Amino acid sequence: MHNKKRKNLVVANWKMHGCKADVTQLLNAIKAGVKVSANTKVSNVVICPPSLFLGQVQQELEGSDIAIGAQNAYPQDAGAFTGEIAFSMLPEFACSYVIIGHSERREIFVETDKFVAEKFIEAQAQGLTPILCVGETQKQRENGLTESIVLNQLQAVISEAGIAAFAKAVIAYEPIWAIGTGLTASPEQAQEVHAAIRSFLAGLDQTVAGDISILYGGSVKADNARELFAQTDIDGGLVGGASLKAEEFLTICSVA
Ligand code: PEP
Repeated sequence: MHNKKRKNLVVANWKMHGCKADVTQLLNAIKAGVKVSANTKVSNVVICPPSLFLGQVQQELEGSDIAIGAQNAYPQDAGAFTGEIAFSMLPEFACSYVIIGHSERREIFVETDKFVAEKFIEAQAQGLTPILCVGETQKQRENGLTESIVLNQLQAVISEAGIAAFAKAVIAYEPIWAIGTGLTASPEQAQEVHAAIRSFLAGLDQTVAGDISILYGGSVKADNARELFAQTDIDGGLVGGASLKAEEFLTICSVA
């Protein structure tokens, strides 16, 4: 059973996709189809568009209870950082969440655990809820390293930010081998890692461990979401590819 205090969330990570017309079309469909949760009386949906579209998304979601998140930002207030956007700019665009440490940032943009921790801290300093992504590669899983990799990634942030900071954070377990590949962790595989994360946190702070939402990400689809989200320690999903298809995304939201 899900702990009542824990929030089930479905986060759409649009990555680097779309144009203005696509944004309007997708948001119109999502606004029309999203239901408010029976428990919380608000929607459990967060939309993370490419940063360039944040203003448009803000305008088009005005008056709805769908939350907005950014996919990334740079942990300095302002300055000579050509091409970057600051966490401090995000609240003005009604962002309340920001994805931190996505494997594509860690791998393609060589973001270290330390840098991820800096971002986590700066996100919270700006009043944002970080969605911290952790996950192992296929090779690491085959070598039996899944738990140690994931818990080390988590510990790297806890060492800098402190466990209390996780009272206002979300974790996303995203096995790298399942992201955008069509391969999904089985509900049992995912639950095993989610339980390990929660029990690791419980060793540091029982309340944080009980209350934090731990999302699963990695080829979540309309036809596998229900079984994944039914697992005791899975509190919703971080959805890439399927979040670009309104009907599929709405089905995922409806089972969270
Ligand atoms: C993601 O973007 O974090 C993700 C899990 O992508 P996909 O759902 O396409 O695997």
